[in-house]
Amino acid sequence: MKYVFEPDPGPIVPVIDSEDVFPVHRIYCVGKNYADHVREMGSTPERDPPCFFMKPADAATIESQVPYPPGTNNYHYEVELVLAIGKEGRNIAPETVLDYIFGYAVGLDMTRRDLQMASGGLGHPWDTGKGFDDSAPIAAIYPVSAVGHIDSGFIRAEVNGELRQDGNIDDLIWKIDEIIPALSRLFLLRPGDLIFTGTPAGVGPVMPGDKIVASIEGLGELAVEISPLL
Ligand code: MN
Repeated sequence: MKYVFEPDPGPIVPVIDSEDVFPVHRIYCVGKNYADHVREMGSTPERDPPCFFMKPADAATIESQVPYPPGTNNYHYEVELVLAIGKEGRNIAPETVLDYIFGYAVGLDMTRRDLQMASGGLGHPWDTGKGFDDSAPIAAIYPVSAVGHIDSGFIRAEVNGELRQDGNIDDLIWKIDEIIPALSRLFLLRPGDLIFTGTPAGVGPVMPGDKIVASIEGLGELAVEISPLL
């Protein structure tokens, strides 16, 4: 047997202060997981509960330049706490979720908002709005072994030095001990899975040349510049 072409080695995320890299298996995302963001999207958190969606694994990017995607006139940032899964599990109990977390990182759920809204209105999938190339910038993973677990702290995004998102992890609607059990009832969680846990209010558009600095307390910063698509 031989491959018909050289297989891609697959996306990786560095682990902070080490030579280690985390190989990405899948990217799961939680939508509508902060009440203030649900409201800014024109919904109510009481009527519109959180939901899951996915991005392709190779949407993950560790490059500091993120290309403006094709097919949109409303390209948005969403800062998110990302869980990096280190252990396989199905039907995970709330009391044991922490055993499955290898570490945490700052991520951006980049979104073609116009395509997402159009598909949502038609009852179509969100894939074109959410699951495109380079739509999941991510900073280095902070391993639990070094920093412990994260259940509160600021989550922020600045664009060109101006604070746009300023929330707290404590405001997650589905907490980490609800997200992982619920996801693991639907999918076999595997080492290498990333879970983007949702974004607080303050999302908005960016253009080529804009600089985004996303940060979460204890997890450093993710700094990217939007570049023209080549
Ligand atoms: Mn999001």
